[in-house]
Amino acid sequence: MILTNILKKQFHYDSFRVGQEEVISSVLSGQNTLAMLPTGTGKSLCYQLPGYILDGLILVVSPLLSLMQDQVEQMKMKGEKRVIAINSFLSPQQRKTVLKNIGYYKYLFISPEMLRYEPIMYVLVQQKISLFVIDEAHCISQWGYDFRPDYLKLGEIRSRLGKPVTLALTATATAEVRQDIKKSLELDQCYEIVYSVDRPNISISIEKVSDQVEKLERVQQLVERLTGPGIIYFSSKRLAEQVASYLHTNSGVNVMAYHGGMEQEQRILIQQQFLHGQLDVICATSAFGMGVNKENIRFVIHYHMPLQLEAYIQEIGRAGRDGDRSVAILLYSPGDEAMAFNLAETELPSMEQIDYLASVTNGHIESVFQDSENWKTYAGFTETQWRIIAEFLQMASTNHINAPFKALCDYVDNRIMVKRANIISMTRFIHSETCRRNEILSYFKEDTHMVGTRKNCCDICGLNLEDFRTEDGLSEGNRNLPIESFDWKQYLSNFLLNE
Ligand SMILES: [Zn+2]
Repeated sequence: MILTNILKKQFHYDSFRVGQEEVISSVLSGQNTLAMLPTGTGKSLCYQLPGYILDGLILVVSPLLSLMQDQVEQMKMKGEKRVIAINSFLSPQQRKTVLKNIGYYKYLFISPEMLRYEPIMYVLVQQKISLFVIDEAHCISQWGYDFRPDYLKLGEIRSRLGKPVTLALTATATAEVRQDIKKSLELDQCYEIVYSVDRPNISISIEKVSDQVEKLERVQQLVERLTGPGIIYFSSKRLAEQVASYLHTNSGVNVMAYHGGMEQEQRILIQQQFLHGQLDVICATSAFGMGVNKENIRFVIHYHMPLQLEAYIQEIGRAGRDGDRSVAILLYSPGDEAMAFNLAETELPSMEQIDYLASVTNGHIESVFQDSENWKTYAGFTETQWRIIAEFLQMASTNHINAPFKALCDYVDNRIMVKRANIISMTRFIHSETCRRNEILSYFKEDTHMVGTRKNCCDICGLNLEDFRTEDGLSEGNRNLPIESFDWKQYLSNFLLNE
Protein backbone atom coordinates (compact mmCIF):
# COMPACT_ATOMS: atom_id res chain seq x y z
CA MET A 1 0.00 0.00 0.00
CA ILE A 2 2.62 2.44 1.13
CA LEU A 3 4.85 1.43 -1.80
CA THR A 4 2.20 2.33 -4.36
CA ASN A 5 1.75 5.68 -2.66
CA ILE A 6 5.43 6.46 -3.09
CA LEU A 7 5.29 5.16 -6.65
CA LYS A 8 2.48 7.56 -7.41
CA LYS A 9 3.92 10.53 -5.56
CA GLN A 10 7.58 10.33 -6.62
CA PHE A 11 7.41 8.56 -9.95
CA HIS A 12 3.89 9.34 -11.17
CA TYR A 13 3.07 5.72 -12.00
CA ASP A 14 -0.13 3.99 -10.95
CA SER A 15 1.19 0.48 -10.80
CA PHE A 16 4.42 -1.49 -10.72
CA ARG A 17 5.81 -3.33 -13.68
CA VAL A 18 6.61 -6.99 -13.56
CA GLY A 19 9.00 -7.88 -10.74
CA GLN A 20 9.55 -4.37 -9.40
CA GLU A 21 7.43 -4.67 -6.27
CA GLU A 22 8.88 -8.06 -5.38
CA VAL A 23 12.44 -6.76 -5.68
CA ILE A 24 11.69 -3.62 -3.69
CA SER A 25 9.95 -5.56 -0.91
CA SER A 26 12.86 -7.97 -0.76
CA VAL A 27 15.55 -5.30 -0.31
CA LEU A 28 13.36 -3.36 2.12
CA SER A 29 13.12 -6.45 4.28
CA GLY A 30 16.90 -6.46 4.44
CA GLN A 31 17.58 -9.39 2.12
CA ASN A 32 20.38 -9.55 -0.37
CA THR A 33 18.65 -9.86 -3.70
CA LEU A 34 19.63 -10.98 -7.17
CA ALA A 35 17.07 -9.87 -9.71
CA MET A 36 16.92 -10.78 -13.35
CA LEU A 37 14.16 -8.73 -14.89
CA PRO A 38 13.43 -8.60 -18.61
CA THR A 39 14.83 -5.63 -20.52
CA GLY A 40 12.48 -2.72 -20.48
CA THR A 41 10.90 -3.36 -17.09
CA GLY A 42 12.50 -0.39 -15.39
CA LYS A 43 15.18 -1.92 -13.22
CA SER A 44 16.30 1.45 -11.90
CA LEU A 45 13.06 1.95 -10.00
CA CYS A 46 14.04 -1.05 -7.87
CA TYR A 47 16.76 1.00 -6.16
CA GLN A 48 15.34 4.49 -6.65
CA LEU A 49 12.14 3.85 -4.74
CA PRO A 50 13.75 2.31 -1.63
CA GLY A 51 15.72 5.57 -1.36
CA TYR A 52 12.52 7.28 -0.21
CA ILE A 53 12.13 4.80 2.64
CA LEU A 54 15.61 3.76 3.71
CA ASP A 55 17.79 5.89 5.85
CA GLY A 56 21.28 6.13 4.36
CA LEU A 57 23.05 6.18 1.03
CA ILE A 58 22.06 4.18 -2.03
CA LEU A 59 25.37 3.32 -3.70
CA VAL A 60 25.02 2.18 -7.30
CA VAL A 61 27.92 0.61 -9.22
CA SER A 62 27.41 0.95 -12.95
CA PRO A 63 29.78 -0.14 -15.72
CA LEU A 64 28.98 2.42 -18.37
CA LEU A 65 29.60 6.13 -18.11
CA SER A 66 26.85 7.02 -20.54
CA LEU A 67 24.34 4.85 -18.69
CA MET A 68 25.30 6.46 -15.43
CA GLN A 69 24.95 9.99 -16.82
CA ASP A 70 21.56 9.12 -18.29
CA GLN A 71 20.32 7.81 -14.95
CA VAL A 72 21.51 10.89 -13.09
CA GLU A 73 19.95 13.17 -15.69
CA GLN A 74 16.64 11.36 -15.62
CA MET A 75 16.48 11.47 -11.84
CA LYS A 76 17.31 15.17 -11.82
CA MET A 77 14.64 15.87 -14.43
CA LYS A 78 12.14 14.16 -12.14
CA GLY A 79 13.14 16.56 -9.38
CA GLU A 80 15.57 14.44 -7.36
CA LYS A 81 18.48 16.73 -6.55
CA ARG A 82 20.35 14.48 -4.11
CA VAL A 83 21.94 12.42 -6.89
CA ILE A 84 25.48 12.47 -8.26
CA ALA A 85 27.82 10.28 -10.28
CA ILE A 86 31.49 9.88 -9.43
CA ASN A 87 33.30 8.90 -12.59
CA SER A 88 36.08 10.09 -14.84
CA PHE A 89 33.89 12.96 -16.11
CA LEU A 90 34.48 14.73 -12.78
CA SER A 91 37.69 16.69 -12.31
CA PRO A 92 39.72 15.79 -9.19
CA GLN A 93 38.55 19.08 -7.67
CA GLN A 94 34.86 18.31 -8.34
CA ARG A 95 35.40 14.84 -6.92
CA LYS A 96 36.82 16.34 -3.72
CA THR A 97 33.83 18.65 -3.36
CA VAL A 98 31.41 15.76 -3.79
CA LEU A 99 33.25 13.67 -1.20
CA LYS A 100 33.30 16.58 1.24
CA ASN A 101 29.53 16.97 0.91
CA ILE A 102 28.73 13.29 0.69
CA GLY A 103 26.15 13.60 3.47
CA TYR A 104 23.96 15.70 1.18
CA TYR A 105 23.48 12.91 -1.37
CA LYS A 106 20.96 10.11 -1.28
CA TYR A 107 22.02 8.37 -4.49
CA LEU A 108 25.62 7.95 -5.50
CA PHE A 109 26.48 6.34 -8.83
CA ILE A 110 30.04 5.18 -9.19
CA SER A 111 32.12 3.41 -11.80
CA PRO A 112 34.03 0.34 -10.59
CA GLU A 113 37.41 1.93 -11.34
CA MET A 114 36.62 4.84 -9.01
CA LEU A 115 36.24 2.37 -6.14
CA ARG A 116 39.95 1.70 -6.53
CA TYR A 117 40.78 5.16 -5.19
CA GLU A 118 41.57 5.02 -1.51
CA PRO A 119 40.33 8.56 -0.74
CA ILE A 120 36.93 7.58 -2.14
CA MET A 121 36.80 4.31 -0.22
CA TYR A 122 37.95 6.14 2.90
CA VAL A 123 34.86 8.35 2.72
CA LEU A 124 32.50 5.54 1.69
CA VAL A 125 33.40 3.19 4.53
CA GLN A 126 32.32 5.89 6.97
CA GLN A 127 28.88 6.24 5.39
CA LYS A 128 25.78 4.38 6.29
CA ILE A 129 25.05 2.51 3.08
CA SER A 130 21.48 1.33 3.11
CA LEU A 131 21.66 -0.36 -0.28
CA PHE A 132 24.61 -1.46 -2.39
CA VAL A 133 23.46 -1.89 -5.97
CA ILE A 134 25.38 -3.66 -8.71
CA ASP A 135 23.86 -2.71 -12.02
CA GLU A 136 24.53 -4.97 -15.03
CA ALA A 137 25.73 -7.57 -12.53
CA HIS A 138 26.48 -10.12 -15.29
CA CYS A 139 29.70 -8.14 -15.94
CA ILE A 140 31.07 -9.90 -12.82
CA SER A 141 31.18 -13.28 -14.53
CA GLN A 142 33.91 -14.50 -16.83
CA TRP A 143 31.11 -16.31 -18.66
CA GLY A 144 29.04 -13.17 -18.87
CA TYR A 145 29.03 -11.60 -22.27
CA ASP A 146 30.41 -8.32 -21.04
CA PHE A 147 32.92 -9.38 -18.42
CA ARG A 148 34.67 -6.52 -16.64
CA PRO A 149 37.72 -7.46 -14.54
CA ASP A 150 36.98 -4.38 -12.43
CA TYR A 151 33.78 -6.03 -11.29
CA LEU A 152 35.70 -8.92 -9.78
CA LYS A 153 36.76 -6.99 -6.75
CA LEU A 154 33.25 -5.85 -5.84
CA GLY A 155 33.01 -8.70 -3.33
CA GLU A 156 36.01 -7.36 -1.49
CA ILE A 157 34.64 -3.83 -1.67
CA ARG A 158 31.34 -5.03 -0.30
CA SER A 159 33.18 -6.55 2.66
CA ARG A 160 35.06 -3.33 3.31
CA LEU A 161 31.76 -1.45 3.30
CA GLY A 162 30.52 -3.76 6.04
CA LYS A 163 28.45 -6.03 3.78
CA PRO A 164 25.47 -3.73 3.28
CA VAL A 165 22.22 -5.11 1.88
CA THR A 166 23.01 -5.76 -1.77
CA LEU A 167 20.91 -5.73 -4.90
CA ALA A 168 22.46 -7.32 -8.00
CA LEU A 169 20.53 -6.42 -11.15
CA THR A 170 20.74 -7.90 -14.62
CA ALA A 171 18.51 -8.42 -17.62
CA THR A 172 20.25 -11.42 -19.08
CA ALA A 173 22.19 -13.96 -17.10
CA THR A 174 22.26 -17.70 -17.51
CA ALA A 175 22.10 -19.91 -14.41
CA GLU A 176 25.93 -20.24 -14.43
CA VAL A 177 26.35 -16.48 -14.57
CA ARG A 178 23.90 -15.98 -11.69
CA GLN A 179 25.87 -18.49 -9.64
CA ASP A 180 29.05 -16.53 -10.38
CA ILE A 181 27.41 -13.27 -9.29
CA LYS A 182 26.37 -14.70 -5.93
CA LYS A 183 29.78 -16.27 -5.36
CA SER A 184 31.79 -13.16 -6.30
CA LEU A 185 29.70 -10.85 -4.16
CA GLU A 186 29.63 -13.38 -1.31
CA LEU A 187 25.85 -13.21 -1.16
CA ASP A 188 25.46 -16.27 1.05
CA GLN A 189 21.88 -15.50 1.95
CA CYS A 190 20.36 -14.29 -1.25
CA TYR A 191 16.82 -14.05 -2.52
CA GLU A 192 16.70 -14.68 -6.24
CA ILE A 193 14.02 -13.19 -8.42
CA VAL A 194 14.28 -14.48 -11.94
CA TYR A 195 11.85 -13.58 -14.68
CA SER A 196 11.76 -15.03 -18.15
CA VAL A 197 13.84 -13.36 -20.84
CA ASP A 198 10.87 -13.89 -23.16
CA ARG A 199 9.06 -10.81 -24.41
CA PRO A 200 5.83 -12.18 -25.88
CA ASN A 201 4.93 -8.97 -27.74
CA ILE A 202 8.14 -9.03 -29.80
CA SER A 203 7.96 -11.22 -32.89
CA ILE A 204 11.29 -12.61 -34.00
CA SER A 205 12.38 -13.04 -37.57
CA ILE A 206 15.64 -14.00 -39.24
CA GLU A 207 15.89 -13.29 -42.94
CA LYS A 208 18.63 -14.66 -45.13
CA VAL A 209 19.76 -12.54 -48.05
CA SER A 210 22.34 -13.52 -50.63
CA ASP A 211 24.75 -10.61 -50.31
CA GLN A 212 25.34 -7.12 -48.94
CA VAL A 213 23.60 -5.38 -51.84
CA GLU A 214 20.45 -7.37 -51.28
CA LYS A 215 20.74 -6.62 -47.58
CA LEU A 216 20.77 -2.89 -48.18
CA GLU A 217 17.75 -3.14 -50.49
CA ARG A 218 15.90 -5.19 -47.92
CA VAL A 219 16.63 -2.68 -45.16
CA GLN A 220 15.22 0.08 -47.32
CA GLN A 221 12.05 -1.94 -48.01
CA LEU A 222 11.63 -2.71 -44.33
CA VAL A 223 12.01 0.83 -43.03
CA GLU A 224 9.61 2.08 -45.68
CA ARG A 225 6.97 -0.52 -44.88
CA LEU A 226 7.19 -1.24 -41.18
CA THR A 227 5.50 0.93 -38.63
CA GLY A 228 8.15 2.92 -36.79
CA PRO A 229 9.89 4.20 -34.91
CA GLY A 230 12.73 1.71 -35.18
CA ILE A 231 16.38 1.04 -34.55
CA ILE A 232 18.79 -0.62 -36.97
CA TYR A 233 21.83 -2.10 -35.23
CA PHE A 234 25.24 -2.33 -36.89
CA SER A 235 28.52 -3.63 -35.62
CA SER A 236 30.46 -1.09 -37.64
CA LYS A 237 30.32 2.68 -37.07
CA ARG A 238 31.18 3.32 -40.69
CA LEU A 239 28.34 1.20 -42.02
CA ALA A 240 25.88 2.73 -39.56
CA GLU A 241 26.76 6.11 -41.06
CA GLN A 242 26.74 4.93 -44.68
CA VAL A 243 23.39 3.18 -44.41
CA ALA A 244 21.88 6.15 -42.54
CA SER A 245 23.01 8.43 -45.34
CA TYR A 246 21.74 6.00 -47.99
CA LEU A 247 18.32 5.77 -46.34
CA HIS A 248 18.22 9.53 -45.89
CA THR A 249 18.67 10.01 -49.64
CA ASN A 250 16.64 7.06 -50.91
CA SER A 251 13.77 6.55 -48.53
CA GLY A 252 11.15 8.84 -47.10
CA VAL A 253 12.10 8.31 -43.48
CA ASN A 254 13.83 10.64 -41.05
CA VAL A 255 16.98 8.80 -40.18
CA MET A 256 20.23 9.54 -38.35
CA ALA A 257 23.28 7.53 -37.33
CA TYR A 258 24.37 7.13 -33.72
CA HIS A 259 27.60 5.58 -32.45
CA GLY A 260 30.23 5.80 -29.77
CA GLY A 261 32.67 7.63 -32.06
CA MET A 262 30.47 10.72 -32.23
CA GLU A 263 30.78 13.79 -30.03
CA GLN A 264 28.79 13.57 -26.84
CA GLU A 265 26.69 16.64 -27.71
CA GLN A 266 25.76 15.20 -31.05
CA ARG A 267 24.78 11.91 -29.46
CA ILE A 268 22.58 13.58 -26.86
CA LEU A 269 20.93 15.63 -29.58
CA ILE A 270 20.09 12.59 -31.73
CA GLN A 271 18.90 10.62 -28.73
CA GLN A 272 16.59 13.47 -27.75
CA GLN A 273 15.24 13.90 -31.28
CA PHE A 274 14.47 10.21 -31.42
CA LEU A 275 12.84 10.24 -27.97
CA HIS A 276 10.62 13.14 -28.99
CA GLY A 277 9.44 11.67 -32.27
CA GLN A 278 11.48 13.87 -34.59
CA LEU A 279 13.33 10.89 -36.05
CA ASP A 280 11.79 7.66 -37.37
CA VAL A 281 14.87 5.50 -37.52
CA ILE A 282 18.27 5.40 -35.83
CA CYS A 283 21.17 3.54 -37.44
CA ALA A 284 23.16 2.67 -34.36
CA THR A 285 25.95 0.62 -32.89
CA SER A 286 25.36 -1.13 -29.60
CA ALA A 287 26.32 2.14 -27.89
CA PHE A 288 22.72 3.21 -28.44
CA GLY A 289 19.87 2.04 -26.32
CA MET A 290 21.00 1.54 -22.76
CA GLY A 291 19.15 3.99 -20.62
CA VAL A 292 17.01 5.18 -23.52
CA ASN A 293 13.47 5.11 -22.22
CA LYS A 294 11.45 5.10 -25.38
CA GLU A 295 8.35 3.01 -24.96
CA ASN A 296 6.99 2.85 -28.48
CA ILE A 297 9.85 1.45 -30.56
CA ARG A 298 8.07 -0.83 -33.04
CA PHE A 299 10.97 -2.55 -34.76
CA VAL A 300 14.60 -3.47 -34.24
CA ILE A 301 16.56 -4.60 -37.27
CA HIS A 302 19.98 -6.21 -37.01
CA TYR A 303 22.08 -5.41 -40.03
CA HIS A 304 24.92 -7.45 -38.51
CA MET A 305 24.64 -10.36 -36.16
CA PRO A 306 25.42 -9.52 -32.53
CA LEU A 307 28.38 -11.39 -31.06
CA GLN A 308 26.26 -13.27 -28.53
CA LEU A 309 22.70 -14.20 -27.83
CA GLU A 310 22.59 -12.12 -24.63
CA ALA A 311 23.42 -8.95 -26.57
CA TYR A 312 20.82 -9.86 -29.18
CA ILE A 313 18.16 -10.23 -26.50
CA GLN A 314 19.09 -6.95 -24.86
CA GLU A 315 18.94 -5.16 -28.21
CA ILE A 316 15.65 -6.57 -29.44
CA GLY A 317 14.30 -5.87 -25.94
CA ARG A 318 14.42 -2.15 -26.72
CA ALA A 319 11.30 -2.70 -28.86
CA GLY A 320 7.78 -2.73 -27.53
CA ARG A 321 8.30 -1.57 -23.97
CA ASP A 322 4.72 -0.30 -24.03
CA GLY A 323 3.62 -3.92 -24.46
CA ASP A 324 2.32 -3.36 -28.01
CA ARG A 325 3.12 -5.56 -30.98
CA SER A 326 6.67 -5.14 -32.24
CA VAL A 327 9.06 -7.00 -34.48
CA ALA A 328 12.76 -7.88 -34.44
CA ILE A 329 14.36 -8.78 -37.77
CA LEU A 330 17.91 -10.03 -38.12
CA LEU A 331 19.32 -9.89 -41.63
CA TYR A 332 21.93 -12.49 -42.36
CA SER A 333 24.11 -12.86 -45.40
CA PRO A 334 26.76 -15.57 -45.88
CA GLY A 335 30.06 -14.55 -44.37
CA ASP A 336 28.57 -12.45 -41.57
CA GLU A 337 30.08 -14.77 -39.00
CA ALA A 338 33.56 -14.08 -40.37
CA MET A 339 33.04 -10.42 -39.63
CA ALA A 340 31.84 -11.31 -36.14
CA PHE A 341 34.93 -13.43 -35.41
CA ASN A 342 37.14 -10.70 -36.73
CA LEU A 343 35.45 -8.07 -34.62
CA ALA A 344 35.65 -10.17 -31.47
CA GLU A 345 39.38 -10.55 -31.93
CA THR A 346 40.08 -6.93 -32.65
CA GLU A 347 38.27 -5.95 -29.46
CA LEU A 348 41.04 -7.70 -27.55
CA PRO A 349 44.70 -6.72 -27.57
CA SER A 350 46.88 -9.04 -29.65
CA MET A 351 49.67 -11.16 -28.16
CA GLU A 352 52.22 -9.11 -30.14
CA GLN A 353 50.94 -5.91 -28.59
CA ILE A 354 51.09 -7.37 -25.09
CA ASP A 355 54.62 -8.69 -25.69
CA TYR A 356 55.66 -5.27 -26.89
CA LEU A 357 54.17 -3.59 -23.83
CA ALA A 358 55.83 -6.09 -21.51
CA SER A 359 59.24 -5.57 -23.12
CA VAL A 360 59.21 -1.76 -23.23
CA THR A 361 58.12 -1.56 -19.59
CA ASN A 362 60.45 -4.36 -18.47
CA GLY A 363 57.43 -6.15 -17.09
CA HIS A 364 56.67 -3.39 -14.56
CA ILE A 365 52.97 -2.62 -14.28
CA GLU A 366 53.71 0.73 -12.64
CA SER A 367 55.49 2.01 -15.74
CA VAL A 368 52.44 1.12 -17.83
CA PHE A 369 50.30 3.48 -15.75
CA GLN A 370 52.93 6.18 -15.41
CA ASP A 371 53.07 6.70 -19.11
CA SER A 372 49.85 5.16 -20.26
CA GLU A 373 49.01 7.60 -23.07
CA ASN A 374 52.39 6.99 -24.69
CA TRP A 375 52.32 3.21 -24.47
CA LYS A 376 48.78 3.20 -25.75
CA THR A 377 49.80 5.16 -28.83
CA TYR A 378 53.10 3.34 -29.47
CA ALA A 379 51.57 -0.12 -29.39
CA GLY A 380 48.50 1.07 -31.33
CA PHE A 381 45.89 -0.02 -28.81
CA THR A 382 42.29 0.99 -29.39
CA GLU A 383 40.25 2.47 -26.52
CA THR A 384 38.54 -0.87 -25.91
CA GLN A 385 41.81 -2.80 -25.97
CA TRP A 386 43.41 -0.33 -23.61
CA ARG A 387 40.49 -0.49 -21.19
CA ILE A 388 40.88 -4.27 -21.01
CA ILE A 389 44.61 -3.98 -20.39
CA ALA A 390 44.24 -1.22 -17.79
CA GLU A 391 41.48 -3.03 -15.92
CA PHE A 392 43.36 -6.29 -15.89
CA LEU A 393 46.70 -4.85 -14.84
CA GLN A 394 45.09 -2.76 -12.09
CA MET A 395 43.45 -5.90 -10.79
CA ALA A 396 46.72 -7.84 -11.06
CA SER A 397 48.54 -5.09 -9.19
CA THR A 398 46.06 -4.96 -6.27
CA ASN A 399 46.08 -8.75 -6.02
CA HIS A 400 49.90 -8.98 -6.32
CA ILE A 401 49.72 -11.43 -9.18
CA ASN A 402 53.09 -12.84 -10.25
CA ALA A 403 54.09 -12.41 -13.89
CA PRO A 404 51.16 -10.08 -14.66
CA PHE A 405 51.86 -9.90 -18.42
CA LYS A 406 51.83 -13.66 -18.72
CA ALA A 407 48.55 -13.65 -16.75
CA LEU A 408 47.23 -10.99 -19.13
CA CYS A 409 48.06 -13.22 -22.13
CA ASP A 410 46.25 -16.15 -20.52
CA TYR A 411 43.34 -13.89 -19.77
CA VAL A 412 43.13 -12.64 -23.37
CA ASP A 413 43.39 -16.22 -24.66
CA ASN A 414 40.54 -17.22 -22.44
CA ARG A 415 38.40 -14.24 -23.52
CA ILE A 416 38.95 -15.12 -27.18
CA MET A 417 37.78 -18.66 -26.52
CA VAL A 418 34.66 -17.46 -24.70
CA LYS A 419 33.91 -14.95 -27.45
CA ARG A 420 34.33 -17.56 -30.18
CA ALA A 421 32.04 -19.95 -28.36
CA ASN A 422 29.45 -17.16 -28.07
CA ILE A 423 29.59 -16.41 -31.78
CA ILE A 424 29.19 -20.10 -32.55
CA SER A 425 26.05 -20.21 -30.37
CA MET A 426 24.74 -17.13 -32.13
CA THR A 427 25.44 -18.68 -35.55
CA ARG A 428 23.70 -21.86 -34.49
CA PHE A 429 20.71 -19.79 -33.44
CA ILE A 430 20.57 -18.09 -36.84
CA HIS A 431 20.73 -21.36 -38.77
CA SER A 432 18.47 -23.33 -36.48
CA GLU A 433 15.17 -24.52 -37.89
CA THR A 434 13.24 -24.70 -34.63
CA CYS A 435 11.17 -21.93 -33.09
CA ARG A 436 13.42 -18.92 -32.32
CA ARG A 437 11.75 -18.34 -28.97
CA ASN A 438 12.22 -21.96 -28.08
CA GLU A 439 15.94 -21.64 -28.84
CA ILE A 440 16.29 -18.54 -26.67
CA LEU A 441 14.43 -20.06 -23.73
CA SER A 442 16.41 -23.28 -23.98
CA TYR A 443 19.65 -21.30 -23.90
CA PHE A 444 18.51 -19.77 -20.60
CA LYS A 445 17.26 -23.17 -19.43
CA GLU A 446 13.72 -21.90 -19.17
CA ASP A 447 10.49 -23.79 -19.56
CA THR A 448 9.56 -23.90 -23.25
CA HIS A 449 6.17 -25.60 -23.28
CA MET A 450 4.18 -22.45 -24.12
CA VAL A 451 6.26 -21.26 -27.05
CA GLY A 452 5.13 -21.47 -30.61
CA THR A 453 1.47 -21.17 -29.68
CA ARG A 454 1.24 -17.43 -30.21
CA LYS A 455 0.35 -15.65 -33.39
CA ASN A 456 3.39 -14.17 -35.13
CA CYS A 457 5.79 -15.94 -32.76
CA CYS A 458 8.70 -16.14 -35.18
CA ASP A 459 9.60 -16.80 -38.80
CA ILE A 460 9.79 -20.54 -38.14
CA CYS A 461 6.37 -20.79 -36.47
CA GLY A 462 4.83 -18.40 -38.97
CA LEU A 463 5.00 -14.64 -39.15
CA ASN A 464 3.16 -12.17 -41.30
CA LEU A 465 5.14 -8.97 -41.69
CA GLU A 466 2.04 -7.26 -43.09
CA ASP A 467 0.80 -7.16 -39.50
CA PHE A 468 3.61 -4.77 -38.71
CA ARG A 469 3.07 -2.65 -41.72
CA THR A 470 2.25 0.99 -41.69
CA GLU A 471 -0.35 2.32 -44.17
CA ASP A 472 1.15 5.63 -45.11
CA GLY A 473 4.82 5.04 -44.57
CA LEU A 474 4.93 7.20 -41.46
CA SER A 475 5.99 6.20 -38.01
CA GLU A 476 3.26 5.45 -35.58
CA GLY A 477 5.13 7.74 -33.24
CA ASN A 478 4.95 10.60 -35.68
CA ARG A 479 1.46 9.85 -36.90
CA ASN A 480 -0.26 9.72 -33.54
CA LEU A 481 1.76 12.12 -31.50
CA PRO A 482 2.18 15.77 -32.31
CA ILE A 483 5.87 16.52 -32.68
CA GLU A 484 6.66 18.19 -29.42
CA SER A 485 8.48 21.43 -29.67
CA PHE A 486 11.25 20.10 -27.51
CA ASP A 487 13.89 22.65 -26.75
CA TRP A 488 16.91 20.43 -27.09
CA LYS A 489 19.31 23.36 -27.08
CA GLN A 490 18.10 24.29 -23.63
CA TYR A 491 18.28 20.66 -22.59
CA LEU A 492 21.81 20.37 -23.89
CA SER A 493 23.07 23.46 -22.12
CA ASN A 494 21.48 22.25 -18.86
CA PHE A 495 23.12 18.91 -19.36
CA LEU A 496 26.54 20.37 -19.95
CA LEU A 497 26.19 22.79 -17.02
CA ASN A 498 25.50 19.90 -14.71
CA GLU A 499 28.64 18.09 -15.74
ZN1 LIG B 1 8.30 -19.54 -32.75
